Amino acid sequence: MNEFAKGEVWLVGAGPGDAGLLTLHAVEALKAADIVVHDALVSAEVLAYTAGAELVLLGKRGGMPSPKQPEINARLVAEAKAGKRVVRLKGGDPFMFGRGAEEVLALVAAGVKFRVIPGITAGIGGLAYAGIPVTARDFNSSVIFLTGHDHTGLSPEGVDWAAVGKAAGMIVLYMAMRHMDEIAKKLIAGGMPSDIPVAVVMNASLPDMKVLETTLENAAADIAASGIGAPAIVSIGGGNLLREQMT
Ligand code: SAH
Repeated sequence: MNEFAKGEVWLVGAGPGDAGLLTLHAVEALKAADIVVHDALVSAEVLAYTAGAELVLLGKRGGMPSPKQPEINARLVAEAKAGKRVVRLKGGDPFMFGRGAEEVLALVAAGVKFRVIPGITAGIGGLAYAGIPVTARDFNSSVIFLTGHDHTGLSPEGVDWAAVGKAAGMIVLYMAMRHMDEIAKKLIAGGMPSDIPVAVVMNASLPDMKVLETTLENAAADIAASGIGAPAIVSIGGGNLLREQMT
């Protein structure tokens, strides 16, 4: 791999939590880093791969006070300009609802060299740990990845939920826990069967992973009753039924 030079920022995907899912490039970058600026979803097991780097928690967390994106971008630029090897470590994959693109654009604008090391996203690898294949020949030939939040924190008004329900053989929702009721109602109103299988996977790949199996019409009530919460991935589609044989 290329040498991690001083003054560079590497955006590294940490995967969903199990450190065994780190790439070799990610491990090398963590070992070489002078500073690791990580988000709240990065597990302690992953951070343990650093070797003496300064660790800084700087990330967005749904519903909690979190730093503004420009502040994060400015910190990355400042640390790089101070001559450090900077790892920006993000849960899952940096470009899957991780604001990685915004950070790269800020680095480009500031003339800072960067590299992106992809990671295993929770919506594929995390579901696999719960026994849910994101595609399966007999069930779906398409997948839609959606965020339950937009930049305002509300469920995305811009999404045509009826069209999504018709187009997707499997819908994988990130950050959707607080808006499940509204999302389910919109999908059902758009023609999706109310009894379609839904799985909710919390802390995917970690020792305390929890999985809830439900249906679209019961999802919000079952989530509330089960106490399951963020971080969780929601999968909607017939492929969830394979879990019975795959776990
Ligand atoms: N870049 C990340 C996603 C960041 S958005 C990725 O590629 O996975 C944050 C959301 O990701 C959480 O709200 C949750 O929906 C999901 N998520 C991340 N890690 C998770 C995990 N270990 N288990 C379940 N969901 C997870």
